[in-house]
Amino acid sequence: MVDPGHVFRRAFSWLPTQFASQSDQPVGPRRFGSTEHLSTEAIAAFVDGELRMTAHLRAAHHMSICPQCSAEVDAQGRPVCTTWYGTIYRGVEVAGPDRPAADAPALPTAPSVGDTARAEIPLAISTGAAHVYTECARIWNPVHTDSAVAAAAGLPAIILHGTATMAMAVSKIVAAEAGYNPERVRRVHGRFAAMVLMPSMVTVRVNSRTPSIGGEAVSFEVLNADGGRAIRDGMVLLRE
Ligand SMILES: [Zn+2]
Repeated sequence: MVDPGHVFRRAFSWLPTQFASQSDQPVGPRRFGSTEHLSTEAIAAFVDGELRMTAHLRAAHHMSICPQCSAEVDAQGRPVCTTWYGTIYRGVEVAGPDRPAADAPALPTAPSVGDTARAEIPLAISTGAAHVYTECARIWNPVHTDSAVAAAAGLPAIILHGTATMAMAVSKIVAAEAGYNPERVRRVHGRFAAMVLMPSMVTVRVNSRTPSIGGEAVSFEVLNADGGRAIRDGMVLLRE
């Protein structure tokens, strides 16, 4: 059980220590100069992702101009992000009994929406998208950039990386559902299924947006030019 008062105090503890309230009373807004550093508690709340949006953005802004506080955040040695992923190996023998992967935190359940999408957002995939993404993401699997390798692998042409499709889809969702603010993204989930060829038009289909713990859950899928699900079971968790 979370003590709301504790969360509240932490949310405001980015205030300079001498101004931080020692009671549960709200602390009024005040402007601070760049020389006023984040408190130790505020640093901890920031790296734990526990600050409310306004406080989080103020703290992030301060760190963008303050090497000292940035260094304190770095010194916490906390993960910037954590990735859980699974891969299908076809035609491979396995040894031993089934063993589930280490648990990822459970996702909120998306409501069943049938054919009624919340939004359908067109997304143009350029001819050179996979080459650009390869160099930017440093993922040099040649099925994405060399048509001879793609053909040898039985593919109709080079295909776009699933993570590239995911990145572009999440950008569209951040624009449409989070006011263009990527700081609101807490977590992203999806399964890569159908192929995306280049150039092509794909569709980011936003199915629902529902309240979730600490924010909102936006469920989505990405349909390729043939209507296949390039990404299915998509979910973007937005902080409040
Ligand atoms: Zn500072």
